[in-house]
Amino acid sequence: MKFHNGYFTSLFHRPEYPDARIWDSIVAHSEVKDGTTKPESQTCDAYSERIPRFARRGSLFPVPSLYSFHTTRAISPEGLLLQEGLNAMPRIELTQIHSANAMYVTGHSPKKIADTDAVYTDQPHLMLSIRTADCLPILLYHPKGIIGAIHAGRKGTLSGITQATLKRIQDQFKIDKDFMFWFGPAICKGCYQIDREKKVYFDLIDENENQIKEILENRYTIHFSQLCTSCRNDLFYSYRKEGEKAGRQYTLIALR
Ligand SMILES: [Zn+2]
Repeated sequence: MKFHNGYFTSLFHRPEYPDARIWDSIVAHSEVKDGTTKPESQTCDAYSERIPRFARRGSLFPVPSLYSFHTTRAISPEGLLLQEGLNAMPRIELTQIHSANAMYVTGHSPKKIADTDAVYTDQPHLMLSIRTADCLPILLYHPKGIIGAIHAGRKGTLSGITQATLKRIQDQFKIDKDFMFWFGPAICKGCYQIDREKKVYFDLIDENENQIKEILENRYTIHFSQLCTSCRNDLFYSYRKEGEKAGRQYTLIALR
């Protein structure tokens, strides 16, 4: 994964992109040896200092058959897709409502889907798009040629959005292993206090990983971006930090 012109991108076919300094400076503090390793403590410091090594290899997923991007404050999805020459590709957007609704989409699906928080497809050249500001963006990939994008906020997580999506995909495609996930930048546990008096914190990362683990046991891989949207409000929009006026980052994925 590299930080380039304001977004993280799959660079497997883009070796010409130079490193951006900010990303280098974050990666320089990396202690984690394995991209699938979760930070030991879910605090702001853990997020900013521990970046998985796969980040240096340059992809949201270490898979060449995908496009996958995550925007930052610095660029809109339209600007990003234009830069990538992908602006003509049909893009599916969701009216996200913090539900557990997941939907299978094809090239014939409407480009705006109402009341849905996750989409998946096995069709190439269809850009799936979700938007977040503190909520956890999850991308999934299965080598059978299936991709998905999940918007997992606290309410959606408690409703079981990740598990619901996974179950639908499993039922439809009859697969139960080899899933790969990318957990994007989201508010870290340390920043996400949900009860000030009782000092209760919500861990979006753990809760969603548990949903995956419950179904797949150990038959999956997760790559963690390990960046907190609130700690790194300089890079990302944060609803907690900015309130109603906060913008949104976009997470995008398509099969080539
Ligand atoms: Zn944080």
